[in-house]
Amino acid sequence: MIHDSRHPMFFQVNLKLLHECGDWGTIDRACALYSSNITILTNTRVVSYDFDKPGVRTGSGEEYTGDVIISADGIKSERFTGWCPAVHQLCCMAGEYVKWKLVELERPLGRWVDESGRVGVLGDAAHPMMPYLAQGAAQVMEDAAALRYALSSHLSTPTPLSSCIPSALSLYQSLRAPRASYITSNTQILQEWLHLHDGPAQEARDTLMALGDSEHNPIFWASAVRRDWLFGWEVGDHAKAIHAKEEEEKIGMGIPRFPPLPPREASVYPGKNLRAKLFG
Ligand SMILES: Cc1cc2nc3c(=O)[nH]c(=O)nc-3n(C[C@H](O)[C@H](O)[C@H](O)COP(=O)(O)OP(=O)(O)OC[C@H]3O[C@@H](n4cnc5c(N)ncnc54)[C@H](O)[C@@H]3O)c2cc1C
Repeated sequence: MIHDSRHPMFFQVNLKLLHECGDWGTIDRACALYSSNITILTNTRVVSYDFDKPGVRTGSGEEYTGDVIISADGIKSERFTGWCPAVHQLCCMAGEYVKWKLVELERPLGRWVDESGRVGVLGDAAHPMMPYLAQGAAQVMEDAAALRYALSSHLSTPTPLSSCIPSALSLYQSLRAPRASYITSNTQILQEWLHLHDGPAQEARDTLMALGDSEHNPIFWASAVRRDWLFGWEVGDHAKAIHAKEEEEKIGMGIPRFPPLPPREASVYPGKNLRAKLFG
């Protein structure tokens, strides 16, 4: 995360730089830039690093540790060789970097509501996901809207709301879990496609990406069906339609088919066995 209030155009300028840069380095190093309130140290030169801590030591002997370190002014260090010049240039404008540890669940949570029926989870607690679809916070909003719908749908009944909580939370979970879990899986699919080694599979991917609107295009948003489904969701309308039918199994209806996956041999995450997880 890099924020520099002295240079309001910082992001615009440098995102352009990054856009023009074809090589983002190899897949064990990825870089994402966000505007946030982070201290920036300049003129530091990293001479060694410890990825277990994680931390770095500078040429002047200072040590910096953080939750995670993503990069440093010592970009010339072994870890960061091979980054494109634009990333070097960008990183050299700042002195301190933070790396997020991105985590996800091995499989979706079986339930979002505890046995009492009165305690539920939402947001990342319910569906942590990789950031590739930029949907984590968006899905929290949908959780909130669905929760509101589920609670308010009981307000019109004569039963006190307190006794309706378990059924409201159950409705909330059924409204949200299929969609959130599909989106979570798609972040993993996109992760696979975005991180191919250079070679035939990557070239084939680039050809597919040039298809434009097609379900064969591996980029989720490229397919109008998937894009409209993702961004055109109206929680209230969906919930009313489903609730009226009282057909819980249909709550996930309309979910598009998964985009294709890259060939197994091209995967840089062979251990994840995503294919088996998604397609059985
Ligand atoms: C690098 C990065 C980029 C992202 N980009 C996007 C994007 O482009 N679009 C998008 O939609 N999403 C994005 N996300 C995801 C998004 O930020 C999260 O999905 C979202 O913030 C989750 O919201 P939340 O309320 O569930 O959890 P959080 O935002 O994590 O909120 C949880 C809160 O609970 C507090 N808390 C934790 N434990 C306790 C405790 N014991 N007691 C009291 N409080 C506690 C925490 O301090 C925190 O304030 C990104 C995430 C990252 C890391």
